[in-house]
Amino acid sequence: MSADCLFCKIAAKKIPSKIVYEDDEVFAFEDIGPQAPTHILICPRKHLDSLNELNLLAGYRTVLNNGEGAGQSVFHLHLHLLGGRAFRWPPG
Ligand code: 5GP
Ligand code: ZN
Repeated sequence: MSADCLFCKIAAKKIPSKIVYEDDEVFAFEDIGPQAPTHILICPRKHLDSLNELNLLAGYRTVLNNGEGAGQSVFHLHLHLLGGRAFRWPPG
Protein backbone atom coordinates (compact mmCIF):
# COMPACT_ATOMS: atom_id res chain seq x y z
CA MET A 1 0.00 0.00 0.00
CA SER A 2 1.15 3.50 -0.86
CA ALA A 3 0.02 5.91 1.85
CA ASP A 4 -1.03 8.75 -0.45
CA CYS A 5 -2.66 6.65 -3.17
CA LEU A 6 -6.39 7.06 -3.76
CA PHE A 7 -6.82 3.57 -5.22
CA CYS A 8 -4.85 1.91 -2.39
CA LYS A 9 -7.34 3.61 -0.02
CA ILE A 10 -10.24 2.29 -2.13
CA ALA A 11 -8.71 -1.22 -2.00
CA ALA A 12 -8.42 -0.95 1.79
CA LYS A 13 -12.04 0.37 1.96
CA LYS A 14 -10.86 3.58 3.62
CA ILE A 15 -12.62 5.45 0.78
CA PRO A 16 -16.04 4.15 -0.29
CA SER A 17 -16.59 2.84 -3.82
CA LYS A 18 -18.81 0.34 -5.58
CA ILE A 19 -16.53 -2.70 -5.74
CA VAL A 20 -17.79 -5.20 -8.33
CA TYR A 21 -15.04 -7.83 -7.95
CA GLU A 22 -12.09 -8.50 -5.63
CA ASP A 23 -9.72 -11.33 -4.82
CA ASP A 24 -6.24 -11.62 -3.31
CA GLU A 25 -4.55 -9.98 -6.30
CA VAL A 26 -7.00 -7.62 -8.02
CA PHE A 27 -9.96 -5.39 -7.26
CA ALA A 28 -12.45 -3.76 -9.63
CA PHE A 29 -14.84 -0.89 -8.96
CA GLU A 30 -17.15 1.54 -10.77
CA ASP A 31 -15.51 4.73 -12.04
CA ILE A 32 -16.85 7.81 -10.24
CA GLY A 33 -17.09 9.66 -13.58
CA PRO A 34 -18.26 7.02 -16.06
CA GLN A 35 -17.46 7.59 -19.75
CA ALA A 36 -19.75 4.80 -20.98
CA PRO A 37 -22.79 2.97 -19.54
CA THR A 38 -20.31 0.46 -18.10
CA HIS A 39 -17.05 1.93 -16.81
CA ILE A 40 -15.10 -0.28 -14.40
CA LEU A 41 -11.54 0.21 -13.14
CA ILE A 42 -9.54 -3.00 -12.66
CA CYS A 43 -6.41 -2.70 -10.51
CA PRO A 44 -3.70 -4.88 -8.99
CA ARG A 45 -3.70 -4.77 -5.18
CA LYS A 46 0.06 -4.30 -5.33
CA HIS A 47 0.75 -0.61 -5.85
CA LEU A 48 2.42 0.07 -9.20
CA ASP A 49 2.34 3.63 -10.58
CA SER A 50 1.89 2.40 -14.16
CA LEU A 51 3.00 -0.31 -16.57
CA ASN A 52 6.32 1.53 -16.90
CA GLU A 53 7.39 -0.12 -13.62
CA LEU A 54 7.22 -3.54 -15.29
CA ASN A 55 10.10 -2.64 -17.70
CA LEU A 56 8.65 -4.46 -20.68
CA LEU A 57 11.69 -3.76 -22.84
CA ALA A 58 10.53 -5.82 -25.80
CA GLY A 59 7.64 -3.39 -26.17
CA TYR A 60 4.02 -3.63 -25.22
CA ARG A 61 0.58 -2.59 -26.37
CA THR A 62 -2.17 -1.59 -23.98
CA VAL A 63 -5.41 0.35 -23.75
CA LEU A 64 -4.36 1.69 -20.38
CA ASN A 65 -3.57 5.34 -19.74
CA ASN A 66 0.16 5.44 -18.90
CA GLY A 67 1.57 8.83 -17.89
CA GLU A 68 0.11 12.33 -17.82
CA GLY A 69 0.57 12.68 -21.59
CA ALA A 70 -1.91 9.85 -22.08
CA GLY A 71 -4.39 11.27 -19.58
CA GLN A 72 -3.49 9.16 -16.52
CA SER A 73 -4.62 11.04 -13.42
CA VAL A 74 -4.35 8.39 -10.66
CA PHE A 75 -0.93 6.74 -10.43
CA HIS A 76 -1.96 3.27 -9.31
CA LEU A 77 -1.92 1.00 -12.37
CA HIS A 78 -5.48 0.38 -13.59
CA LEU A 79 -7.27 -0.97 -16.64
CA HIS A 80 -10.39 0.88 -17.81
CA LEU A 81 -13.19 -1.46 -18.91
CA LEU A 82 -15.81 0.49 -20.87
CA GLY A 83 -18.88 -0.90 -22.61
CA GLY A 84 -22.46 -0.32 -23.60
CA ARG A 85 -21.91 2.19 -26.41
CA ALA A 86 -20.19 2.46 -29.80
CA PHE A 87 -16.46 3.36 -29.82
CA ARG A 88 -14.30 5.07 -32.44
CA TRP A 89 -10.73 4.18 -33.44
CA PRO A 90 -8.19 5.58 -32.85
CA PRO A 91 -9.16 6.83 -29.40
CA GLY A 92 -8.68 10.55 -28.82
P1 5GP B 1 -6.87 7.84 -15.30
O1 5GP B 1 -7.23 9.27 -15.67
O2 5GP B 1 -5.75 7.81 -14.28
O3 5GP B 1 -6.64 6.92 -16.45
O4 5GP B 1 -8.17 7.25 -14.58
C1 5GP B 1 -8.49 7.56 -13.27
C2 5GP B 1 -9.98 7.33 -13.12
O5 5GP B 1 -10.26 7.33 -11.72
C3 5GP B 1 -10.85 8.44 -13.73
O6 5GP B 1 -11.64 7.90 -14.76
C4 5GP B 1 -11.67 8.96 -12.54
O7 5GP B 1 -13.02 9.22 -12.89
C5 5GP B 1 -11.56 7.84 -11.53
N1 5GP B 1 -11.62 8.29 -10.16
C6 5GP B 1 -10.96 9.38 -9.62
N2 5GP B 1 -11.25 9.49 -8.32
C7 5GP B 1 -12.12 8.47 -8.03
C8 5GP B 1 -12.77 8.08 -6.81
O8 5GP B 1 -12.63 8.68 -5.74
N3 5GP B 1 -13.58 6.99 -6.87
C9 5GP B 1 -13.78 6.29 -8.04
N4 5GP B 1 -14.59 5.23 -7.99
N5 5GP B 1 -13.16 6.63 -9.20
C10 5GP B 1 -12.35 7.72 -9.20
ZN1 ZN C 1 -1.96 2.58 -4.93
